[in-house]
Amino acid sequence: MPKIRFAFPAIFALVFAVSIIVAQTEQKFDFYARGEYRANVPRPQSTLRFDVGDFHTTYAQMEKVIDSIAAATPDRVKVLDIGETNEHRMQHLVAISAPENIARLDEIKTNIARLTDTRRTTRAEAQAIAQNTPAIAWMAYTIHGNESASFEAMMQVVYQLAASNEPATLDILKNTVVLVLTGENPDGHERFVTWYNSIATGNADRNAIEHREPWSIWGRYNHYRFDLNRDTLTATQKESKNMIKAYLDWNPQVAVDHHGQPSQFFFPPAALPINPNFPQPVTNKWLTLYGRANAAAFDANKWDYYVRDVFDLFYPGYWDTFPTLNGATGMTYETDGGGFKGLRWTRDDGSIATLRGAIAKHFIASMTTLEQTARNKTEKLMDFYGFRAKALDDVRTVKMRAVVISPAGDPVKAAELAEILLQKNIEVRVATAPFSVASTHGYMEKDAPRTVRNFPAGSYIIDMNQPQGILARSILEQDTPQDKAFVDENMRRFNRNQMRGKGQSKEDYSFYDITAWSLPLAFGLDAAWTEDAPTVGVTLVDQKFIDGKKAGSVIGRAQVAYIIPYETDAAGAMAIKLGQQGFRVAVATKPLNAAGRNWPAGTFVVRTSRNAETVHDAVAKMAGELGVNVVAANSGFAEEGDVSIGGESVYSLQPAKIAMIADEGVDQTSYGSIWWTFDRYGITFTPMTIQSAKSGGLKNYNVLILPSGSPGRYFSSFGSGGVSGLKQWISDGGTLITARGGSVFAALKDVGLTSSKLVGSDDDEEKNKASDDQSPDKRKEAEAQPSPTPKPTPSKATPEPDATPLSDKNDKGEGIAPTLPPIASPSANANKVPEGLPGSIMRATVDRTTYLNYGITQNELPVLLASGYFFRYSKEGSNALVFDAKPKRPLTISGFVWEGNTEKLLKGTAYLIDEPSGSGHTILFAEEPFFRGIFRSTTRPFFNAIAFNGVF
Ligand SMILES: [Zn+2]
Repeated sequence: MPKIRFAFPAIFALVFAVSIIVAQTEQKFDFYARGEYRANVPRPQSTLRFDVGDFHTTYAQMEKVIDSIAAATPDRVKVLDIGETNEHRMQHLVAISAPENIARLDEIKTNIARLTDTRRTTRAEAQAIAQNTPAIAWMAYTIHGNESASFEAMMQVVYQLAASNEPATLDILKNTVVLVLTGENPDGHERFVTWYNSIATGNADRNAIEHREPWSIWGRYNHYRFDLNRDTLTATQKESKNMIKAYLDWNPQVAVDHHGQPSQFFFPPAALPINPNFPQPVTNKWLTLYGRANAAAFDANKWDYYVRDVFDLFYPGYWDTFPTLNGATGMTYETDGGGFKGLRWTRDDGSIATLRGAIAKHFIASMTTLEQTARNKTEKLMDFYGFRAKALDDVRTVKMRAVVISPAGDPVKAAELAEILLQKNIEVRVATAPFSVASTHGYMEKDAPRTVRNFPAGSYIIDMNQPQGILARSILEQDTPQDKAFVDENMRRFNRNQMRGKGQSKEDYSFYDITAWSLPLAFGLDAAWTEDAPTVGVTLVDQKFIDGKKAGSVIGRAQVAYIIPYETDAAGAMAIKLGQQGFRVAVATKPLNAAGRNWPAGTFVVRTSRNAETVHDAVAKMAGELGVNVVAANSGFAEEGDVSIGGESVYSLQPAKIAMIADEGVDQTSYGSIWWTFDRYGITFTPMTIQSAKSGGLKNYNVLILPSGSPGRYFSSFGSGGVSGLKQWISDGGTLITARGGSVFAALKDVGLTSSKLVGSDDDEEKNKASDDQSPDKRKEAEAQPSPTPKPTPSKATPEPDATPLSDKNDKGEGIAPTLPPIASPSANANKVPEGLPGSIMRATVDRTTYLNYGITQNELPVLLASGYFFRYSKEGSNALVFDAKPKRPLTISGFVWEGNTEKLLKGTAYLIDEPSGSGHTILFAEEPFFRGIFRSTTRPFFNAIAFNGVF
């Protein structure tokens, strides 16, 4: 009896507790409400032994789930392998369709491919194909490996399609071939889930350790810490190469990239700016159709979501813009749980976001998208055909007809660019003779005037008159303008911010990513765009041709020395690599005469007398692999001039023993881009924590690299003792190389590794001399605008703004300026402090007299700037790359800059500084030298900083 009496209050308490939980969490979603299901198909949970959203699935477990479903449904499912990751995981594409389609997959693929060649397929033929062929839907999951709801949702989608006999599902199977990409970033996903599963308790407290991914885990990125959702532009990473190859093999009509970071679910229509190369109104028509369908499904479930807002469609390196530039409807879907939010996460209003809820939303959005594609597949296929037909029509009206890229400055790099285009099915031709074009425009300024130009034989020609013309234009054009409404709105915010006082919070800008990426500029190649199609004999470039251009050779076997001309970036890498392998390399510091020719300063010399017999094989092998053309010299006698192989001004290099800081506070993608570059050339280095570097770790190294990162974090981790130690190490002959945030750290007053000051900082004496030239008109305009509530802007699929401890933009390598050092009142100093640039290409002037610029033959280099960190000229060191104090042409080459601020403050600052101290140097790059592996224009200065350590 007493038992019952006590049971009442207990039950009451339990009910009360449950009702609180119900009020705070979403209703438990039923993933199996869309049957009947075929009984023989195993549900994912039967393989995994846990319920949906209760735990995270590892990659190998997922493969078991997919294999078990595929084995039970050979009539509907076919698993295709598309290539390995760096860590040897296989990426899979699971084709799911109706049995009659699965039986003729190759035929379907061939039919769809015919829609891409509008030169050979008539509209009538296209219509017949569109009637009789299912559409291809590309459903890609987990490009950011720590956005875990996407991965889990994928298995539920595969099961639903493989097992269900629901009419809507059968309609999808009949009218589409669904290609489920089971993991876009398997290596990053595995780092995240292994860590999370090992430490998580499902704690919703934001301060719980499971919501704090350590630096060395950070599963968003792939093995090399590249953001794969920025990588389609140059496809440097294995995963990108695998996926692009598979994508262009199948030619999908709709492509969804499933993410998971913001506060509420996002699906398109996208926000401004929208890339102007997308055909309209057809692009927006489909985004709206899918958006409205998703909205109806979410409304029915009472789920929160948003459209437009922050997610744009501009930068062509995302997995929504890339499909769009290939004629599909490319979309980003962002769910609201999982990932850094783990199994459970407390929202800002106290309610709980769950992994299961986030999986459910992706599941419904995926299924809704497939239903719409099935329903509209004929129209979808015809618009897909129309996309490439438009590319051919466009050449009659668009000004840019062709792009010509000269191989003269770097034949290997030019071939690499051609290869990137080939991988995107863009037709590239090579000129068989020198030629001239009457109407060309240079790349080194916006709207460059029309000139006549001659090009050498071997120049690459990309004619926009081809089916891939729209994609080619979008990545090769000199500049891509943003929508005017977008630019105007951001300038209004900027002008209002200039009026705000020191303590007042500022409005954020809605730039999502870099605004300039033109590949000839990013690579630093000599190129021009033309209004006419060049008339010259050409041959179509194929992979075999590229391989030939990327392979170097040695002419002869040297009696006296090998001469390595600095005519490609790879020559710098070869000098470093030879040194690291124990060979002795020297450099001519004055023009050299050898092997019957004159060579400029910066030419490398490998003397046989100073090296073991193995040097011959090593030089031959390396030259072949790296693409360097080496010349053998058989006599030390100089036919003319003062410098011969044995000359006094041929200096010996020191073998580079390189360490690089890899630690909390370091920008992962900055670190990763340098790591990848080193690996690409076979240069070895040691990643090291700051603690190890501080406690004697540097004694065996002569080069230390500080990638971009948080200046404050660098300072607190090194501490004053660490900074003193660093100074001593430099004074003893070490070379410290810093990039962006690392350079800001070097310039901090309490660090003092350079005599340069940051423009606009408190210790910038020049700041107060600058005149305030803000026009009264702008002030008026600024005041006339209502001041909206400032809105934080998440980077595309980076942690939501209310997850501040995790969303430090410094950690993400994203555009806009991280924390600046303290500055004086901005309102009193309007336009005296640089506003952070979203990512624009600027004109740097080359000091050809410094060793840091050996190998560079241009007087100007295009460089990316993606911050508000501008560096005054060093007073005590040298300024190797500068922004002219009195430029004859605008400093802006491509992309967005702040009117009245950027150009004014950038004039007379340095991009590359060499600050000698004792026997060593600090070498500061204002920006990341290899941003995303895309930007390569300053490769030689970076290699020179390493190769010539301890020499000058
Ligand atoms: Zn993402």
